[in-house]
Amino acid sequence: MRQKRAKAYRKLMAMYSMNFGFRQPYQVLIDSEMCKTAHQGGMDLSNLLTTVLQGTVKLMITQCSIHELYLQGKPMQPVVDLAKSFDRRKCNHREVVPGDACLKDVIGETNKHRYVVATQSQSLRSSLRCVPAVPIVHVNRSVMILEPPSGATLKTKERSDEAALRPAEAELSKLSVSVKQAEIPRKKKKGPMGPNPLSVKKKKPAVTQIPRSEPTSTGSKRKREDEQDVADTLAGASQARSGHKRKRRRKTETKLSTGNDCA
Ligand SMILES: [Zn+2]
Repeated sequence: MRQKRAKAYRKLMAMYSMNFGFRQPYQVLIDSEMCKTAHQGGMDLSNLLTTVLQGTVKLMITQCSIHELYLQGKPMQPVVDLAKSFDRRKCNHREVVPGDACLKDVIGETNKHRYVVATQSQSLRSSLRCVPAVPIVHVNRSVMILEPPSGATLKTKERSDEAALRPAEAELSKLSVSVKQAEIPRKKKKGPMGPNPLSVKKKKPAVTQIPRSEPTSTGSKRKREDEQDVADTLAGASQARSGHKRKRRRKTETKLSTGNDCA
């Protein structure tokens, strides 16, 4: 196999693995015509498929396909022997159906068992192209060919790629929150710049003024009484020096007390 083709097949099988969950050993369904072609051309199907699919393979044949070979009589015996060497795939057709119809049934609408189909039937190949994710192999002049991906396969792949890019429901709520946070730009205030704070003389700490509580009658009274006590003791100490001062203090005392009574 040429290098260019080998690379293309490797990429193609990688796509089937990545997007559709194909795993080695690849299960290859082989139809009766392919068995005949292989026998006539003396081809080793297992080797050829391993090379083309670039991985281990498991060859399989359906009950109906092998029955088709039985029906063709004795000359087909070597082909039947070859087909018998493959794993039998139960197709659950009670009455034998033609090989193409049987394979179509086994693949179904989604090829959920991830089969590769090796068939020489033109009509089967064209109908399998409508099912996404069916690698199709055929032999043309003793060269085994892996078909490029069908339109249905590519469409499904694109859809799954898009879905993979979109965030999941659970992530979406988290995302919207973080996006909102990211969207609010902090506006930097522009305008006349102040002086460099390092070059400015420090301001003197402002004297904190203790807010005066509303003078209530009892509160102010108590305060003034306290003041009076202090004044009395001072006056007592200075009494020895002059009686005159003491008298004056008394007068102020009476004035204050009368004022308080009114309040
Ligand atoms: Zn069948």
